[in-house]
Amino acid sequence: MHRPLIRREVPLTDRNTLRLRSVAELFAEPATDDELLEALAYGRRHHLPVTVLGEGSNVVLSPYLPGLTICVRLEGIGIEGPEVSARAGVNWDRLVHETISRGAFGLENLALIPGMVGAAPIQNIGAYGVELSAFVREVRAVHRKTLQSRAFSAAECGFAYRDSVFKARESEQWVITDVRLRLRADDRPELAYKGVREAVDAAGLEVSARSVARVVSEIRRRKLPDPSSTPNAGSFFKNPIVDSGQAGRLRSQFPDMPMFEIENGFRIPAAWLIEKANLKGRSQDAVMMSRQHALVLTNTGGADAVAVNRMAETVRREVAARFSVTLEQEPRGY
Ligand code: FAD
Ligand code: NAP
Repeated sequence: MHRPLIRREVPLTDRNTLRLRSVAELFAEPATDDELLEALAYGRRHHLPVTVLGEGSNVVLSPYLPGLTICVRLEGIGIEGPEVSARAGVNWDRLVHETISRGAFGLENLALIPGMVGAAPIQNIGAYGVELSAFVREVRAVHRKTLQSRAFSAAECGFAYRDSVFKARESEQWVITDVRLRLRADDRPELAYKGVREAVDAAGLEVSARSVARVVSEIRRRKLPDPSSTPNAGSFFKNPIVDSGQAGRLRSQFPDMPMFEIENGFRIPAAWLIEKANLKGRSQDAVMMSRQHALVLTNTGGADAVAVNRMAETVRREVAARFSVTLEQEPRGY
């Protein structure tokens, strides 16, 4: 049966990994460029706010999303040597495995990150010592109001730690349609992040992109609560970065606080701060800071955005009171 492009009052509870109760006033899932333009033109004609949703693994959805919510369903992967292009609706983990099996290497440390390709540049996804920005050549996007398509070079994307222009200056302006990457033809995986090399060796595997993707996926399955049984949005806070002055003060006050020196300061694992502030396993309304991984906020059943925001505020307040460090929320609220 033919489904209309724009549908009314569509539930989003199964479309966000925190499983927050939410309904979109209007909802479209364009599968072609023409359908995407048609949906955006409809939004412009009716002066509607437009929200873009991928797989909903990094969002906190309100009970009701007014206006038009668009989930981009553009599909397709092109691989020519190390040059890779992928459309926004492709599942990220599928792209990782497809590139490896076609001899284009580099994405292996980013295996099993949930979500769609179109969302990956938004926060410059990263894990196990690798960030997407290392490979981006170009991001194509359509402006939500003018409907013009344009290409952003890697420099124009303004990538930083879990950040980009699409999340900052140009926030909520664009719909990403395509991502072009330049990967590597040589299979030399990044092994510096703790535990990766050891896991490859312990499994008796040769060092390769394929074996790194496999052990990273295994580590993630072991360490992180699975959203399909324990609704969550991954790390709920970014790992804070402090300058050397603050790092020195913190180190003298809390000698066992882990810190990693990076180019613009010192990174502190937010999970450690949360655990030491006695918030691991803390439960409030229908929300809990996971006992398995302190940085992961979970919905224990029937939570809504209000409950999530209350817990987030409790965590921020108690961590700031104990360590004078400000935590910044990672998932975006709508
Ligand atoms: P959504 O959550 O649906 O959307 C996220 C943001 O992107 C929203 O602002 C949305 O408007 C915007 N967006 C989505 N698609 C488009 C588009 N086509 N055009 C414009 N804007 C768009 N993140 C990491 O960086 N590293 C990790 O290791 C990691 N691990 C995770 C583990 C778990 C268990 C979970 C649940 C999440 C994890 N995340 C991680 C967060 C999340 O997977 C990523 O941020 C991912 O890129 C989100 O993809 P999505 O399709 O679910 O986007
Ligand atoms: P982990 O390996 O226990 O490490 C905890 C923290 O230490 C993170 O802040 C990590 O920074 C930092 N760290 C570890 N080794 C480092 C190094 N050599 N140099 C600089 N910083 C270092 O973390 P985890 O929670 O199990 O996650 C593993 C990886 O997956 C991390 O990269 C994490 O970011 C990513 N991840 C992200 C999400 C998400 O939703 N964003 C969810 C799950 C996992 P980094 O965060 O910068 O790596």
